[in-house]
Amino acid sequence: MGALTAWQEIGDRIWVRRYDPFNVNVTVVAGEDRVLLVDVRTTLREARELQGDLAELPVGPITHLAFTHAHLDHCLGAGAFHGVPIWGTVGCREDLVRHGIDQRERWLEWLPEQERPHLRASPIVPPDHTLRDHHRLGLGGREVDLLHLGRGHTDHDLVVHVLDASVVVAGDLLEVGAPPQFHDAFPFQWPATLGAVAGLNAEVVVPGHGPATDAAALTTQESELAHLASLCREVHSGVRSRESVFAGSPYPRATTEVALARAIETG
Ligand SMILES: [Zn+2]
Repeated sequence: MGALTAWQEIGDRIWVRRYDPFNVNVTVVAGEDRVLLVDVRTTLREARELQGDLAELPVGPITHLAFTHAHLDHCLGAGAFHGVPIWGTVGCREDLVRHGIDQRERWLEWLPEQERPHLRASPIVPPDHTLRDHHRLGLGGREVDLLHLGRGHTDHDLVVHVLDASVVVAGDLLEVGAPPQFHDAFPFQWPATLGAVAGLNAEVVVPGHGPATDAAALTTQESELAHLASLCREVHSGVRSRESVFAGSPYPRATTEVALARAIETG
């Protein structure tokens, strides 16, 4: 458990580090007088470890947090950053307020035994600063756009666009090295949302999990999702069998089963 990588500077004063469990990314964006941290790992213990790692960077204290979405591997460490304003979408806040505690119970089984007490001890801290579609955040000498571009991995995904550095933090709208996760997803809308992320024309893209990459990864996953959505649509309209979706899907069977169920559920 811990850092899988050192800090990697992916743009001017922008760093990414990847952690176990879950191969999850955290991103730091430093301006002249403010420092934004995007996502905070899964537990208080993990976030305190992250705070130790942040001391390696030539930046001041974290002044702002942003959550890409309400899944706990991205936001349950927030209690370690007491008093720091947290940005997230309105839907992210609602999700954590309504379902955070239930979600924490469910996550217990996905963590190794020794980490479970730390999960239980981590408070649900919803964003206290929310946006519906867009908020421009000034960090001193640089601005970042916090954007909700539509439904995809969830109904409330937040994308962070660092305007002067051509960097986008895409959260779990993009997965690298593992299939996308559909448990709370909107399979029919996800391709267009990913297209909107690609439309930001960033050169460097940080996925929720896996190594930072480039814009080509967005268009590749967009076309895979669009293909899967078209298969699901054909099941919907009765011209394709469920079984044939698994053969044609770009993703493993278990992933495709969830996608198909969500496609039927969300229409
Ligand atoms: Zn997620």
